[in-house]
Amino acid sequence: MKQTLLYQIPTEAQIRKQLKKIIFGHNVFCPNCRSRNIFKTENRYRCKKCKLPFTLISGTWLKGMKLPLRVFWSLLWCWTQKVPVLQTQKLCGLSEECVRRWFGTFRAQLPAICPNLNGIIQMDEAYFKSLSLVMAKEVGSRKIAHVFVQGNSVTRPDVADFIFQHVKPDSQLNTDGAAIYKGIEGWWPVKHERDIHKKFQFGKTSEIEGMFGCLRTFIRRMYHHVTPEYLPEIVAEFTARFTHPEMFDSPDSYLQKTMRVVPFD
Ligand SMILES: [Zn+2]
Repeated sequence: MKQTLLYQIPTEAQIRKQLKKIIFGHNVFCPNCRSRNIFKTENRYRCKKCKLPFTLISGTWLKGMKLPLRVFWSLLWCWTQKVPVLQTQKLCGLSEECVRRWFGTFRAQLPAICPNLNGIIQMDEAYFKSLSLVMAKEVGSRKIAHVFVQGNSVTRPDVADFIFQHVKPDSQLNTDGAAIYKGIEGWWPVKHERDIHKKFQFGKTSEIEGMFGCLRTFIRRMYHHVTPEYLPEIVAEFTARFTHPEMFDSPDSYLQKTMRVVPFD
């Protein structure tokens, strides 16, 4: 792992060049007034029009970052490659708190996903200590939708709300035999099929049950433990990784999707 990481991390000058290309394209512009009329000194810039001093990252979510660029790149490489928190601490020489905070920052930049599922859809619930998770997957695709419900049970209205939002009419909905799904075709136009687990029927819900298995493994391996407070964002990270795996190919592909110059406050 260490050797792999070593070869993955570019020099500081290469990272700077890469960031410049991702953030500004061909020409650096002022994050405040967008003027391309700027001075450059060392690694800092100043706008000739509005006089604002800025750096490459001033106008992005990385503004104010204190980490050396190679440490930042290593940290992001670890996160995109699902390197566990503990191992990332050792590889990057950072504290657990620092690694968890940065992983949280990376997670916060992920685009929100609100998919509409259709065709054959499998749906199921998973229970955590004080939260319940409802998840649905379109069979044979990478589209999944989920919602968290407070408490350790899911009611029929919770399920109904979720279906209204994410399941297209005239889809086929496969669930287990849980009572909350009973009569579902009466409130939303779906063809409802059920696996009765007591009768050892699992075929109709095997993909969604597989997803829950992957989710639990992902959380345990990468984060070791997660408090309920962070569970929703970590599940959102999991679904983003599943739905858009190409975003996690490298730090570069992640930054391409998340770096935008936003005007100053
Ligand atoms: Zn300016």
